[in-house]
Amino acid sequence: MKFKKAMDQESLIIECLRCGTRNRLPRVRIHDKPHCGKCHAPLDVHGFAVRPLETTDAKFAVDVLAAAQPSLVFFYSPTCPYCRMLSPVIDELAVKFEGAALISRINVTVNPVTAQQFGIQGVPTLLLFREGKLMKRMVGVLSGDEIERTLKGIIKLS
Ligand SMILES: [Zn+2]
Repeated sequence: MKFKKAMDQESLIIECLRCGTRNRLPRVRIHDKPHCGKCHAPLDVHGFAVRPLETTDAKFAVDVLAAAQPSLVFFYSPTCPYCRMLSPVIDELAVKFEGAALISRINVTVNPVTAQQFGIQGVPTLLLFREGKLMKRMVGVLSGDEIERTLKGIIKLS
């Protein structure tokens, strides 16, 4: 848990291409289209390692339900072999959909409340949200193509 907390608070220094100000930004915020603190130009976050946002029971409402973008949540457990198979697929989608959809994941072992709230029967399970509403539930190991198609369908609705 100590390690995870450190990961959450990891921050980046991103230099503004317009005014040169060095902006400190928590890594998790690179999904939020950050702007320069001084001149408000959009910061170029391209090139920083994009990965799924690690959310928790405490942050789920803010991270996922209040997200401006359509959102995919990967419910996983670190000990589940099928989750480990799906994990790189989800990482890839985070890169592919950066700016178009929020890709996040939640460890159900330490975050049981959200899993219970959405009736997660087993992992891996993917839930797709749009404007705080559950749009689609996908259970088990699916191909990246299949997830991508479904996600694009949800994005088109918005
Ligand atoms: Zn600037």
